[in-house]
Amino acid sequence: MSRPIRARIDLSALRHNLSIARRHARASHVWAVIKANGYGHGALRVARALSGSADGADGFALVELETAIALREDGIYEPILMMEGFYAPEELALFSWHNLQPVLHCLDQVEIFCAAGLPAPMPLHLKLNTGMNRLGLNPDELDIAFSRLESCAHTGPITLMTHFADADEPRGVDEQLARFQSMAGGRSLPVSVANSAALLRFPETVGREGDWVRPGIMLYGGSPFPAMQTASDIGLAPVMTFESELISVRDLAAGDRVGYAGNFVAEGAMRVGVVACGYGDGYPRHAPTGTPVLVDGMRTRTLGRVSMDKICVDLAGIPQADVGTTVTLWGRHGSMRLEADDVATAAGTVSYELFCAVAQRVRFEEVA
Ligand SMILES: *Cc1c(COP(=O)(O)O)cnc(C)c1O
Repeated sequence: MSRPIRARIDLSALRHNLSIARRHARASHVWAVIKANGYGHGALRVARALSGSADGADGFALVELETAIALREDGIYEPILMMEGFYAPEELALFSWHNLQPVLHCLDQVEIFCAAGLPAPMPLHLKLNTGMNRLGLNPDELDIAFSRLESCAHTGPITLMTHFADADEPRGVDEQLARFQSMAGGRSLPVSVANSAALLRFPETVGREGDWVRPGIMLYGGSPFPAMQTASDIGLAPVMTFESELISVRDLAAGDRVGYAGNFVAEGAMRVGVVACGYGDGYPRHAPTGTPVLVDGMRTRTLGRVSMDKICVDLAGIPQADVGTTVTLWGRHGSMRLEADDVATAAGTVSYELFCAVAQRVRFEEVA
C-alpha cells in the first residue's frame, strides 16, 4: 500500500469549464493556458483532454519549451503560443520545426527574430506594455518593432496582445484597455487580451471573430476573484480533488496541545484526526487553525501547524470518522465540494498557488 494522498483530475469538469469560457468568449478563439504543468494538473493530460474536437481548445498557451515539444511529440496539432517567446536565439529553430508561435515582448527579441534564418513565415504575437510594466513594448518601441518586422521575410501574421494587472481588482481594465486601443491604433490586427478575470467580468475585452482570449485558472475550476464571485457562482466545476485519509485518531483532554509549537490548545475533551498530508505534499504551511477541510464529506477545520507530512483536523460532529476515512483537502467528495479558493483564502494565498504547489510525491489519477 502506498501513502494514501492523491490528486484526482476530473477531465469532464475540465471540458465543462472550457465550455463556460467559450460561452463568454463568444466568437473569439480560446487559448487554453497550460503553463506551470497545466497549473499543476499535468500539461499533457490537460492538453489531451481539450485537444482534437470542435468544442475543445483552439490552441494552447504556455511558457516552457520542453512542454511545448512534448505536446507536439504526443500528436497535439493545435496552435501553440509561447507567452514569453524564446529565451535564446538557438530556440527559434525549434519554434519553427515544431510550429510554435512566439510572443515578442521587447526589441531585443524582435532583432533576434529578424536575424534568424527561418524557412517559413512564423506567426507572431507582439506584447504591448499597457501599464503592468513587466513584459511588453512601450508605445515608442512598437513603431520600431513594426518597421523592423515589415522588412523581414519570415514575419508571419501578427497578433497584438497585452496582459491586465487588475482584471480581478477594483481598478479593473479601463485604463489599460484604453492604452492598448490607442497603441493598436488603426492597424486592425487580431488581438488577444483577456485572462479569466477579464473574460468573465469585462465583455469588452473579449474581442470579435478572429480575436483570442487566454483563460487559465477558470479552466481548472478556480475563481479569478473569489471574494467577488465563487467558482460555483460562475458555474465552474472543481477539476482537482486533493484527497487523503486519516491515519490516526485520538482523544484529547482540556489543555492538551496539538502539533509543532503546540499553538492549538484543546479547550475541552475533543477528538482529533491525523491526516497523511502536509506541506511536503503541497498543502500550504501557512494555513492556520480553522482552515476548512472535509472529513467523510463533512466540513470541519484544521488544528495547529501544518507539518511536512501531517495535518490535524477536528472530528467534532463526525463520530463515524476513523482510520481510513477519506479527507478532502479541496475538491469533491460525493455531492459535497470544498473550493480550493476557500482553502487558499484561509491560508492567505490564491488557488493558482495551491494547484501549482502539489508535490511530486502525490499520486495523480484521472477520471474521464
Ligand atoms: C497566466 C496567463 C494567463 C491566464 O491567466 P488566468 O488568470 O489564469 O486566467 C493569460 N495570459 C498570460 C500572459 C498569462 O501569463
